[in-house]
Formats: sequence, C-alpha cells, structure tokens
Amino acid sequence: MKKLDQLLRAATAGEPLEPEDMLSLLRLVAQDERRELFSAARKVRHQYFDNRVALYGFVYFSTYCRNDCAFCLYRKSNVSCRRYRKSLNEIVAASAALADSGVHLIDLTMGEDPAYLNDGLEGFDHLVEIVRAVRERTKLPIMISPGVVPEYVLCALKEAGAIWYACYQETHNRELFRKLRLQQNYDERWSIKIFAKSIGMLVEEGLLVGVGDTTHDAVQSLLAMEELAADQIRAMTFVPQIATPLASKPQMNSDYELNLIAVMRLLFPHCCIPASLDVEGIEGLTARLNAGANVVTSIIPPASGLQGVSQSTLDIAEGFRTVPGVQPILANCGLQMATRDEYAMWLERLQPQLAVEEAL
Ligand code: SF4
Repeated sequence: MKKLDQLLRAATAGEPLEPEDMLSLLRLVAQDERRELFSAARKVRHQYFDNRVALYGFVYFSTYCRNDCAFCLYRKSNVSCRRYRKSLNEIVAASAALADSGVHLIDLTMGEDPAYLNDGLEGFDHLVEIVRAVRERTKLPIMISPGVVPEYVLCALKEAGAIWYACYQETHNRELFRKLRLQQNYDERWSIKIFAKSIGMLVEEGLLVGVGDTTHDAVQSLLAMEELAADQIRAMTFVPQIATPLASKPQMNSDYELNLIAVMRLLFPHCCIPASLDVEGIEGLTARLNAGANVVTSIIPPASGLQGVSQSTLDIAEGFRTVPGVQPILANCGLQMATRDEYAMWLERLQPQLAVEEAL
C-alpha cells in the first residue's frame, strides 16, 4: 500500500485513485489516519465550493409504495408504518414554506406509489402537475425522486421543471441488489438514469452501507458512479426499520459512511455530496460536513406532517431539521450557506446546458 500522505497528496492534486487506493482509504480505522483523510477531503471541497454549503428541502409527499425493498420502512407489505399521500395544495404549501425558509432546492420524493405510477397517464399527469406547481410557486431547482418511471414521463417531468432525477441503486453488486430490492430489475433502474443524463438532467446516485456490503462492493459502486457521470452521489448507513426483514440487523456506526463521503469527495471533487440528516439527525451533521459533504439534505418543515425516509420522525417536530436548526452547525464548521446564485453556478458547472435552457 502506498503511504497515506503520498496518496492523499496525489488525490488532492487531482491525480486519479486506483481501486486498491480506494480500498485502503475506505478501510482506514486509525483515528489519526481518518483525520488526515477528512482534512484532504475538506481541502478539495474548498477548492471547488469555497466554504459554501447548499441546503435541500425534502418533501416526501407519498409513503405508499408498490415495492418491497428489504431495508425500507415503507415497503408495501409493512402494515406498521404510517402512510399518507399529500394533496397538491399540501405539497405546494410545504414546498413554499421550505423555499421561504431559504433552502436551495426542493426534493420531491415519493415511494413508488401506484396512484402515480400504475394508474397510467392520469397518475403520471398528476406527478407532472405537482412538479409544475412547485416550480411555479418556488422558482427553485426541483429534484424529483419518483422511483423508476417510463422515459416519456421523465421527459415530461423535466419539461415541467425538474432538473434533478434521484434514483438510488443502493448497491452495484447484482446479487446484493436482488436481496435488497426484491423482485426489481437492476438494469431497468440503471438504464433510466442513463436516459436522464442523455436528456440533460442532473442525476443523483446513491449507495446504502451496512446491509451486507463489502468494501469491494463500495469500490464497484464508485466506479459505477463514475461511469454514469452522476452529479450528486450519496452514501447512507442503513438504519434498521421495524417489521421489515432486516429489522434485527444491527446498525453499524457512521465511521464507514464518513470514510466513503471523504473518498467520494477526492474522486469526484466537483460533485454535490450530501450530509444527510436522515441517518443520525442533527447530531450527525458535523461529522458528515467535516468529511467533505457540501450539501445538507432532508430539511423538513416541522408541523407539516411530512416524514423522513430512514429516520421517519427524528428531529423533525423539534425543528432541528430546518434552516435555522442547521445554521449554527455550519458556522461551527467554518461553513456558510451558499447564495442561490452560487448554487445555480454549481449546477451550471455540472451541466452547462442548464444555463442555456434557463435563458430561453
Ligand atoms: S426504498 Fe423506495 S422503492 Fe423500496 S420499498 Fe422503500 S419507498 Fe419503496
């Protein structure tokens, strides 16, 4: 193995990391070595984003789902979770509250709700209408996370104002995918992201760790993200969910996720990399930012009746997952919120065509 300082010096200078280098960084456990890794990641982040961070508002507007993912609270066979489907007015109101609070983007997420996905054109029309209405009211960039949709629906969602498409494979090990995303098609899920890129959308890809994955799997995921040219990449630690097949699987601490965030930053310096509030809530934010993240995700308005995904209620009613809740943490890390113009510039750097489309 190359010496750590040599490896990090090369990475911060923009030299590519070999798969065996990625493996050795992902496997770091000594605290002093991990501190060096995070320091290098922050240095790279600073080169591309200065000390600025973007905040994403999260509107999980339907918790119904046609799928049965082994890790997910909202899998269709789980009768012990609270389900809701918000009305158009409620979705627009929550998005407007988030926009008014200062977030940079609205992430419209749903389970793969049959009401939108299986009801043919009518369901899709409602989905497109939601995007259009939120975009019109907030004027903010929209990320849409509806699961796998037909290509023509993605085109319509883009036309309505969605510039981001988030769809997580969670693993790029097909055998593990089969065990996690039961009865789902790996290639179909992958292909729609390639299609999204081809029509000029920004794409977020993600992986879940602590679900029987290995560091070799993580390297495979990092290479897949590179192949996809993903614009935002996230790693999240698995949180066991009640009444699901993985309910009794112990939750690992977030150390490995933090190593992954830092390695992602070294590999993909220009990409948006989230520090999600949906794993450890506000308590876990500092560590994720210090590992090199430049986006805070899952800002949720309190008293909106909206939930998170893997932490359905943590810190929401208390108002910690809000812009004012996050700001003191940013300040403690020497960071500050990007302006909306700065965030727009990041997006144009990722996808120059966006500037042209915005001008039309
Ligand atoms: S992860 Fe998404 S697709 Fe899978 S069961 Fe949960 S909500 Fe449905």
